[in-house]
Amino acid sequence: MVSIKSRRAKVGKIKIVWSRELPAAPSSVTVIKDSANRYFLSFVVEIQPEILPETDNSVGIDLGISTFATFSDGTKVDAPKPLKKRIKKLRKLSKSLSHKTKGSKRYEKARIRVAKFHAKLKDTRTDFLHKLSTKIIRENQTIVLEDLNVSGMVKNRKLSRAISDLGWRTFRTFLDGIAEKYGRDFRVISRWEPTSQTCSCCGFKGGKLDLQVREWECLNCGAKHDRDENAAINILVAGGQSETLNGRGGKCKTTAKVAAANVSGAMRQQSVNPPRSYGSVGIPAPFRPGRMSTNFFLSINWEY
Ligand SMILES: [Zn+2]
Repeated sequence: MVSIKSRRAKVGKIKIVWSRELPAAPSSVTVIKDSANRYFLSFVVEIQPEILPETDNSVGIDLGISTFATFSDGTKVDAPKPLKKRIKKLRKLSKSLSHKTKGSKRYEKARIRVAKFHAKLKDTRTDFLHKLSTKIIRENQTIVLEDLNVSGMVKNRKLSRAISDLGWRTFRTFLDGIAEKYGRDFRVISRWEPTSQTCSCCGFKGGKLDLQVREWECLNCGAKHDRDENAAINILVAGGQSETLNGRGGKCKTTAKVAAANVSGAMRQQSVNPPRSYGSVGIPAPFRPGRMSTNFFLSINWEY
């Protein structure tokens, strides 16, 4: 039980449900009330990083709409879509709210019902993202993520309306925080790397792909690619996690043609500045140390 008093009103006694034990004595506590009238206690606690044993694994992650995350080893993860199943319920709740007089007790009750509904959806997403990021950090030493792969999508109006907040930003924040907690190396590469256009086998840049194109064949070396997996490999390479362009290792055949392409690619890389815009010359530039800052904020709704 905790007794909460605020300047405006006495909240009274509230029973606490501990989500987990405090690892140390807190230095401060903040009481948060959300729009669904739920109270949260947020403690500031000092912790020692819990260093995990080192592993040789590293992963590049491509974030997308149809598939939430594709890893450089080809694994795909879908995000839960809690709203899809319950859209009817939301419509019903919203309709009920719209029929109430603002400021009335019935209105407030209906408002809380809607807020609780949204809070539940948010919890489902947060839980999913937290579990996924913990798993990734535990299994890999180096994790490379592309800084929001939205360049192509935002241009596409139809899609940008359909895009939902897939929780990309939260995912990145979680990865960053958990990596620090466990002493892992989390890297973010610039979103201007042409990761989906470049063949991860030979470095050939095939040009911009329409978003509908999920699979393609390299015109230079003939390698067949899954769009997202190829991008994830390029993300890993751009993060400095592979000595060669070929992050896929043994999967790609190295023919004379491919080797030649690699050489010319390497020469090109030296002669041009790192790619600044989408569509500029490029094989992934080497990882530039330091966190990339971004002013790009994607504020879109989930699943509409
Ligand atoms: Zn190729």
